[in-house]
Amino acid sequence: MIQNNLKHVEENIIKACKKVGRDPNEVTLIAVSKTKPVDAIQQAIDYGIQDFGENKVQELTSKIEAIPEKLNWHLIGHLQRNKVKYIIDSVCLIHSVDSIRLAMQIEEEARKKGIIANILIEVNIAKEESKFGVAKEDVPKVLKEIKNLKHVCVKGLMTIAPYVENAEENRKYFSEMYKLFIDMRSENADNIRMEILSMGMTGDYQVAVEEGATMVRVGTGIFGERDYTI
Ligand SMILES: *Cc1c(COP(=O)(O)O)cnc(C)c1O
Repeated sequence: MIQNNLKHVEENIIKACKKVGRDPNEVTLIAVSKTKPVDAIQQAIDYGIQDFGENKVQELTSKIEAIPEKLNWHLIGHLQRNKVKYIIDSVCLIHSVDSIRLAMQIEEEARKKGIIANILIEVNIAKEESKFGVAKEDVPKVLKEIKNLKHVCVKGLMTIAPYVENAEENRKYFSEMYKLFIDMRSENADNIRMEILSMGMTGDYQVAVEEGATMVRVGTGIFGERDYTI
């Protein structure tokens, strides 16, 4: 079941790329395994998936401990500053950096460990009250501040689009994100490299790929519905 789902999602990504003349190798599928057991992750590993996304620090660290394979773990959920230290050297990318204060905390913990932390700036593109993320207008300011941090490297931008019934409704937001992503290349510096655009979930990843996503984060479409009651 999980492996069939993965095949289906990969085929959809290839189709979306073909439609707009993109190379499917430009798009990384992140399997979002939050709330799902290690056994489900193992099935995805057996299929060939290496990139997994989790949104809670505690769940992420216990899964890393439980799985012997060396994987690429992505932190995709809101990160509290006091928890940075628990994940700083075990994730390949933090997608959800939504303030300069959080970036500075990441700098501090990365410096202590002698590493460079890769991050994305989360943008609240639809200006939703309920969502985290930097306002589009503030992204240049945030990047300018981060330029001074020596242990943080900004790899690109991330967004969580609104929940919609029809994915087409999010096309305008994905297209706005892509424009911002390209515009922000003017801010490139030693530690600012606009290479990754993380957007698109189960309901809308094909549209996100058509509009330029380089990483899509798919949970339900791979592992099935999540049960938050257990
Ligand atoms: C849960 C989650 C996803 C995956 O959502 P699905 O709709 O199940 O694909 C993607 N990104 C973030 C930030 C999430 O928290």
